[in-house]
Amino acid sequence: MNTAAPDSPSTECTLFVVAAPSGAGKSTLVNALLEREPAISLSISHTTRPPRPGEQYGRHYFFVEREEFEREIAEGVFLEHAEVHGNLYGTSRTTVNTLLEQGRDVLLEIDWQGARQIRKTKPDCVSVFILPPSRAELERRLRGRGSDSAEVIARRLHNSREEIAHAHEFDYIIVNDNFDEALDDLQAIVRAVRQRSQLQWKRHETLIAELLA
Ligand code: 5GP
Repeated sequence: MNTAAPDSPSTECTLFVVAAPSGAGKSTLVNALLEREPAISLSISHTTRPPRPGEQYGRHYFFVEREEFEREIAEGVFLEHAEVHGNLYGTSRTTVNTLLEQGRDVLLEIDWQGARQIRKTKPDCVSVFILPPSRAELERRLRGRGSDSAEVIARRLHNSREEIAHAHEFDYIIVNDNFDEALDDLQAIVRAVRQRSQLQWKRHETLIAELLA
């Protein structure tokens, strides 16, 4: 039974959703964006995937056993969850809603299935898809990571087609060929979203009242 509280009404903050096929450079781009835009909080996902060398519990993911993850699904812990490359991944409902209520913009790095679920519960979210510049480059970047087995790389390359086939469902698509340009594009989206009149009208109530007096 889903025992979770209903999702909170939309706030003045924005929920950003970023997806990409594995190897497109999404995490590097997102980390660079967060350095430029410290008002955005990254939601740390739960996963049943084993940690890669150097990955830390609570910093990169909350690594959990499948049994625990499945129990949490039943308890309604997740705002969205999906099976990706044979592992379960999910976003904590409480974490996201608490951050939004605290006045933080929140960014989710999730796959297309999760993005679809988020669009249903949080229709005001802004979604961005990152494409690699070519198939050869995608493969080069996946192999260059050096922390995944040949089998894992082959599976991720195979699955990239399905992920990419859903790119049109996103609000924006960025091609990550030149890293600095892709980062500028991602930041431009964030900055444009913050100036939307729907948000600005609420944020600047006092100013608008004064200007209209
Ligand atoms: P990785 O194992 O390389 O860290 O992530 C594999 C894929 O799972 C990526 O496409 C990543 O965006 C996705 N992913 C990570 N966290 C979540 C999550 O909480 N929910 C969903 N739906 N996908 C996630």
